[in-house]
Amino acid sequence: MALVFGSRGAPNKGITLMTATTNLHELTISDALRSLRRGDISAVELIQALLDRIAAVDGDLNAYLTVTEESALAQAAEADKRRAAGEDAPLLGVPLAIKDVLATRGVETTAGSKILKGFVPPYSATSVQKLQDAGAVILGKTNTDEFAMGSSTENSGYAPTRNPWDLERVPGGSSGGSAAAVAASEALGALGTDTGGSVRQPAALCGIVGLKPSYGRVSRYGLLAYGSSLDQVGTLTHTVEDTAILLNVIAGRDPLDSTSLDAPVPDYTQALIPDLKGMRVGLPAEYFIEGIQPEVEAAVRKAITQLETLGAQIVPISLPNTDKALPVYYLVATAEASANLARYDGIRFGYSAGADNMLENFRQTRGQGFGPEVKRRIMLGTYALSAGYYDAYYLKAQQVRTLLKRAWERAFEQVDVIVGPTTPSTAFRFGEKTDNPLEMYLADIFTVSLNLVGMCGINVPCGQDNNGLPIGLQICGPSLGEEAILRTAYAYEQSTSWHKQKPTL
Ligand code: GLN
Repeated sequence: MALVFGSRGAPNKGITLMTATTNLHELTISDALRSLRRGDISAVELIQALLDRIAAVDGDLNAYLTVTEESALAQAAEADKRRAAGEDAPLLGVPLAIKDVLATRGVETTAGSKILKGFVPPYSATSVQKLQDAGAVILGKTNTDEFAMGSSTENSGYAPTRNPWDLERVPGGSSGGSAAAVAASEALGALGTDTGGSVRQPAALCGIVGLKPSYGRVSRYGLLAYGSSLDQVGTLTHTVEDTAILLNVIAGRDPLDSTSLDAPVPDYTQALIPDLKGMRVGLPAEYFIEGIQPEVEAAVRKAITQLETLGAQIVPISLPNTDKALPVYYLVATAEASANLARYDGIRFGYSAGADNMLENFRQTRGQGFGPEVKRRIMLGTYALSAGYYDAYYLKAQQVRTLLKRAWERAFEQVDVIVGPTTPSTAFRFGEKTDNPLEMYLADIFTVSLNLVGMCGINVPCGQDNNGLPIGLQICGPSLGEEAILRTAYAYEQSTSWHKQKPTL
């Protein structure tokens, strides 16, 4: 295999090893593991190459809020020591990034919010802990819309992240930092979270693979809660195989999260076969609507033809009430957020305004610590839950949510997976939607349903628009249907080269 080692401060001029074309920071997780296991590279060399890459490009991108350089190098040295002693582990020496809504012991965790400035959790999220137990090296914490509320990272309490494909455009959100970091080869993979699309949508806008597992497949322990009945930890990677490798590690029952599912975790890499013979692929009429960017629709339709070529049977289906999913989502998510965010009181975590009267301290801490979108959500959610409005809004939304769940369950009696576009458009420009929250909310029109019904979905790159911006195909599966969507995504990916396209920085 061809490798180039980046050297500190000069990431593009490296010392050439062997015949040299692939930069270390551009390796996939599976290739990195192969090279580490063969002894072609050391974990320290790999981590240093990633740190150099971050130093070279993150000034422009702002994908990271915190880079844990020192501890990353220490973890890498430890990984090399273990390997030299004959040990191996599923991710030994693999450098990954973590969205800043996931608690990391000893490392500042802000959820992209000023209100958590300086908060250093005494424990790690189970998903993060599992990665570390599997030998992964954590490079740092990635930027996010404040408390994961947003679709562009423009709601970050710090500064927005830029899209590596076009620095004038957003990377999507809320896991925009994780998506940009992976797309720009500043990490081999990353964790994100998806409450209404926050892994799949930025993956689509950054041209990478993004998986939202079924509700309960991955523990939410240590995920700073936004909408507890919707939140799920997901992965962002360059390839479907890398997604399967990470899911193998993070999936499973966790006694610390009573909503985590007690179902066996298969080896997801075994599901990756390069054809779709016998697969029934549902095509919902409701996912090809007016207003969708023509190049997005064309690329997705072409991808569906490709699935047919690979042996799948395409079945037209209907998902009634899809038009209600967005309003239902914005009632349920805000209601849950208003309750979850009550804990930020200036006493227990992070920022405190320091007023001497308790009520005044609540008021000032929350007034100064939360940004405008978070305040909007708390107000919307509080309204929907208040006496006199509860029945008309929150209860009604939950009833429609049940109807949606039935519609999706019925659809999966006929088909194995359901496909459509991940987003209605490619990456938009900064400021384009910030004045109109409703327009920003529309970026999630194709992703929120899966969270409401607790099922799984994956984005795979399937084209580019006339500006060379990535387009994503969404493949949805039933609860615990991860093997079916991974198989479909893998077969598609292996028969195209979209996943090999990289932004030039
Ligand atoms: N953009 C959606 C929202 O703002 C989804 C966010 C997410 O999935 N975390 O709620």
